[in-house]
Amino acid sequence: METEKRELKEAVLWETSGEDKKVRCKLCNWRCLIDDGKLGRCAVRKNIDGTLYSLNYDKVCSANPDPIEKKPLFHFQPGTRSFSIATMGCNFRCEFCQNWQISQAAIEDGRIDGQAISPERIVEAAVRGGCKSIAYTYTEPTIFMELCNDCGRIGKQRGLANVFVSNGYETVEAIDFAADWLNGINVDLKSSSDDYYKTLCKARLQPVLDTISYIANETNIWLEVTTLVVPGENDSDDELKKLADFIVNKAGPDVPWHISRFHPQYKYLDSVPTPIETLQRAETIGKEAGLHYVYLGNVPGAKSESTFCYNCGRLLIERIGYHIAANHITDSCCPDCGTKIAGFQL
Ligand code: SF4
Repeated sequence: METEKRELKEAVLWETSGEDKKVRCKLCNWRCLIDDGKLGRCAVRKNIDGTLYSLNYDKVCSANPDPIEKKPLFHFQPGTRSFSIATMGCNFRCEFCQNWQISQAAIEDGRIDGQAISPERIVEAAVRGGCKSIAYTYTEPTIFMELCNDCGRIGKQRGLANVFVSNGYETVEAIDFAADWLNGINVDLKSSSDDYYKTLCKARLQPVLDTISYIANETNIWLEVTTLVVPGENDSDDELKKLADFIVNKAGPDVPWHISRFHPQYKYLDSVPTPIETLQRAETIGKEAGLHYVYLGNVPGAKSESTFCYNCGRLLIERIGYHIAANHITDSCCPDCGTKIAGFQL
């Protein structure tokens, strides 16, 4: 056990709780109370002798220079590359997870594979690759916050931005902890129904709503929201309107909403890809609710991949898949009518 302790990275955001060396993790909204020798719900944080450790800090399982549009972040340094990293693990158990091989392995069979790559080397690879940011993505970044924090701080010194692609389950403490170096985040808002979260993700809705409101209103972190539209689960007019109304009223009309096409995955195979008409209906509902920017995802070639001025309709950023064919935004404004276009370094 002594060897294990010396090699592991002590976790951030935890406290001792009562006797018997129990600890309370404060990183995500499960706020696990963990007995000595046990794991948290995410299976990548362990209480060893009354101290909480990260088991995945030095286990990077993915590292790729991606277009920032792939996150998706459409109003954040458009047309740039983001050095995208992940470690194994997750605090959700979504039945349709697209990255289940790396997100669920720790929970299902205790596997945490990956390479020890120092934060310095990760930042160096990002700079050398011409990336403008580091993205913590593919799995839930909250559960590898220690690595995000070390990369984020070093990356900031080297002029890199930092972004999360997240399920929105981080605590307020975790958001405040990251706010010094975290510049952007895309939060999945999977449904407006708590039953959906409970049944399909083994999680709860309210913490996600709270996270979105908090980031939009209490931080300077640029926010975009994504909803994967699953046929028969969250595709009714009522559901889509609730989602759009929530974003407009609690986060603001400038928050981009990505409506993403579902393809059967993992345990959720008895379904079909989302019909394009359903996505277009969602887009109409979003715009009628007052959202300025509604995008279709996983529909290459769709007109709604591009950014238009919500005031005059001028094409501003023309996208073909993840490729930017043209960017006409001038000094963060529409060149025709002068309307300010919200975003991070547009
Ligand atoms: S990150 Fe979340 S799931 Fe993991 S131990 Fe901490 S509170 Fe539990």
